[in-house]
Amino acid sequence: MDDIVAESGKLLLLGNEAIARGCMEAGVSIAATYPGTPSSEVGGVLERVAQKVGMYFEYSTNEKVAMEVAGAAAATGLRAFVFMKHVGLNVASDAFVTLGYTGVRGGMVVMTADDPTAHSSQNEQDNRFYSKLALVPMLEPSTPKEAKDMLKMGFKISEELGSPVLYRTTTRVNHARAIIELEKIPEIEQRGRFQKDPQRFVCIPAHARLDRIAQLERWERAMEMAENSPLNFVEGEGEIGVITCGVSYTYVKEWLKGVQILKLGFTNPSPEKKIANFMKDKRFVIVIEELEPFLEDEVLRIAKGHNIGVPVYGKRTGHLPRAFEFNPDIIASLSELVSVEERKLPLDVEKIALPRRPPMLCAGCPHRGTFYAAKRAVGKKEVVYSIDIGCYTLGVQPPLTMGDFLLCMGSSIGAAGGFSKATDQKVMAFIGDSTFFHAGVPGLINAVFNDHRFVLVILDNRTTAMTGHQPHPGTGRKHGEWTSEAIKIEPLVKGLGVGYVKTVDPYDLKGTQAAMKEALEYDGVAVIIAEKPCPLALKKERRLTKGQYKVDQEKCNKCYTCVEKLSCPALFRVGDDVVIEETMCIGCGVCAQVCPKKAIEEVDQ
Ligand code: SF4
Ligand code: SF4
Repeated sequence: MDDIVAESGKLLLLGNEAIARGCMEAGVSIAATYPGTPSSEVGGVLERVAQKVGMYFEYSTNEKVAMEVAGAAAATGLRAFVFMKHVGLNVASDAFVTLGYTGVRGGMVVMTADDPTAHSSQNEQDNRFYSKLALVPMLEPSTPKEAKDMLKMGFKISEELGSPVLYRTTTRVNHARAIIELEKIPEIEQRGRFQKDPQRFVCIPAHARLDRIAQLERWERAMEMAENSPLNFVEGEGEIGVITCGVSYTYVKEWLKGVQILKLGFTNPSPEKKIANFMKDKRFVIVIEELEPFLEDEVLRIAKGHNIGVPVYGKRTGHLPRAFEFNPDIIASLSELVSVEERKLPLDVEKIALPRRPPMLCAGCPHRGTFYAAKRAVGKKEVVYSIDIGCYTLGVQPPLTMGDFLLCMGSSIGAAGGFSKATDQKVMAFIGDSTFFHAGVPGLINAVFNDHRFVLVILDNRTTAMTGHQPHPGTGRKHGEWTSEAIKIEPLVKGLGVGYVKTVDPYDLKGTQAAMKEALEYDGVAVIIAEKPCPLALKKERRLTKGQYKVDQEKCNKCYTCVEKLSCPALFRVGDDVVIEETMCIGCGVCAQVCPKKAIEEVDQ
């Protein structure tokens, strides 16, 4: 049996694994998500163990659907957990904000995994503002251990208030490792019961107004809870006060000396009296938090409201930056205000010249063939490339350079429609299969309905590759098993009324290029489905039958077309020669089709 479902003991867990374990210990009955880094590993664990512990877990088609699944479950009195990356909450916000109105009956915790520095995201938005927008109480853990404990408290708070709770983590909490003490997993409730109450749960205007009043009453109670919560505590001594939350607390503990700390875990509504009391006898207060001055503005408001003249330093005074994650150097910059631990960095990192390693599509990635064929089909024509979120976004890198516009999940199709109406330029949109199911379908319906004119290439690699090969409705995998009927993209697209639809094999460059050419001539919305499984997923599933290609140095004339136009990482120059790294090559044969001298050949194993 999987260690993570053990009854007791200690495990070295990733923050996200600790969160998944927290779900089990909290007796969560239903959990749902759409995968997104930095939250993805929570789903990885739950998909593996949910059935064993009696929990229902699903990968939903997008975050809004996941929010609706969890919200309905919580309305039946069950405990429900829904989790996503920060931008996922934008997708789910319609349902989320209204759930703040209706409230819930069972506990409901909504995890937003924020990504300061935008390590794997299109922005670094601070989702704490969603808590203010939706009047949904918020908790912020600082470490993996706290992440597990606080999640369980989140469910209690949610049930006591009858409101969802926003549980906001950041990358460093999700992806740090720590020793975690396992506690009991209770019997998980299987069935809830929905008691009808249309006045509360059917948000027509007349009902929404009543819900709004009930929500404000809940908010008053939440303010009291925040004041008395053990998640908000004072530690240390000193006349300089530091108010902090989330991962910044760990930096403060490690680097700042001689300060008294007000550590906030229940950060919205803020514990007003606690903050005012903390500030009163201080020489000055520093607010240390990543991204926006969310707490700092609260502290300034509270100081003003309570006539506390203590200076407040932080982002508003320019002592701390508003962009990106903190690090010891940033904390060291506070040394003009406060005593900072001597830096103990083992190396002066700036002196090490690290080689640049731009991210690139993997060896044998079918997207490389699709982009290459598209480029050849386009030739010298000017085409606007509208791209989307997934590993194929790497097509924006040279030598492929197939990306001109990108906003968010599913935007490639809507934006392509916009370009087709706003310009006379040819437009090509690219979207992955998982993203197509997530948010692409409505854009395509819109394009057909409004007579847009572009080529849509659906890069169907049969998985959600970028976040770790999670399933989606087109894969045939569900709840950890390969037993479901896969929803096929071609009939779906045809059913929407698209006039030109063709499925191609992206390893067959000629065939793919010919279909692209035809599609570019089509007057309307044309869809090409480039279908080939992701080789990394096949490797994981041990379904990869690996071929092997080699360069015949006699035939090779050193033109470097293969290296320069295709950039497969398995293929590179050694001196003047081009060689193929055997351990990386998966034998897709695309380079052999690109070589004008037929110098790349399949070899017998
Ligand atoms: S494309 Fe063919 S001929 Fe040109 S460098 Fe590569 S292997 Fe050699
Ligand atoms: S066959 Fe060529 S393109 Fe395909 S993985 Fe091997 S080296 Fe890369």
